[in-house]
Amino acid sequence: RLEIKDLRRSFAGRPVVDGVSLQIMPGQVTCLLGPSGCGKSTTLRMIAGVEMQDSGTIHVDGKLICDTVFRIPPERREIGLMFQDFALFPHLSVADNVAFGLKGSKAEKRVRVEELLARVDLLRFIDGYPHQLSGGEQQRVALARALAPKPRIMLMDEPFSGLDNRLRDGIRDETLSILKGEDTAVLLVTHEPDEAMRMADEIALMRDGKIVQQGAPYNVYTRPLDRAAVAFFSDAN
Ligand code: ATP
Ligand code: MG
Repeated sequence: RLEIKDLRRSFAGRPVVDGVSLQIMPGQVTCLLGPSGCGKSTTLRMIAGVEMQDSGTIHVDGKLICDTVFRIPPERREIGLMFQDFALFPHLSVADNVAFGLKGSKAEKRVRVEELLARVDLLRFIDGYPHQLSGGEQQRVALARALAPKPRIMLMDEPFSGLDNRLRDGIRDETLSILKGEDTAVLLVTHEPDEAMRMADEIALMRDGKIVQQGAPYNVYTRPLDRAAVAFFSDAN
């Protein structure tokens, strides 16, 4: 369970994230949806711990991860990350890419790597290298890598935007079913209403650093807050 409370961050005196609060339960996907520049990635980066907030708190399963004085480093937050530039390590095999964040013996790691590659249907590439895979296949390896340490929380920043349309729907669905199966709390950033409608249990509509509307996709779509929300949903399509 991820809980963020009143997160704020300014750059050069300009508030970019302006009091964002969210709660995400295990097995639930919340989409942070909003136009370019509204502060989505900055929000995610603060939760990941690669950007420091000016104020606000982050809790994972009730445990304080970060406030303005106390801060657990990113690698100890049990948070999985999948960003647009998901880049696999080109010089490492598929197996070593997936095993990268894992602890334990070689044999233990191998078991987990096989399990995950089977899940994304890429076991046959286990000893291959990234350049031998298609974009979609690389994306699935990146997903396996992100899931390998069994994160309680998964943060995804436009993870499907590098894929062509034909591949994208399949990988979205696959990703969803894996994340649900692992009971992960997911925060997915996108500027595409379609993607949010397809993937979210809950949509948080963001504008100018604030969440202006939040609810089930159907409700957000059919009862838009204002003209700007209507325009955003229709323009982006
Ligand atoms: P997009 O959909 O284009 O990815 P976004 O909602 O993810 O947009 P952010 O990346 O969070 O937007 O950026 C929000 C604003 O904060 C932008 O105007 C950006 O220029 C600014 N910003 C982000 N990081 C920094 C930084 N390190 N220094 C200065 N300004 C920054
Ligand atoms: Mg962004």
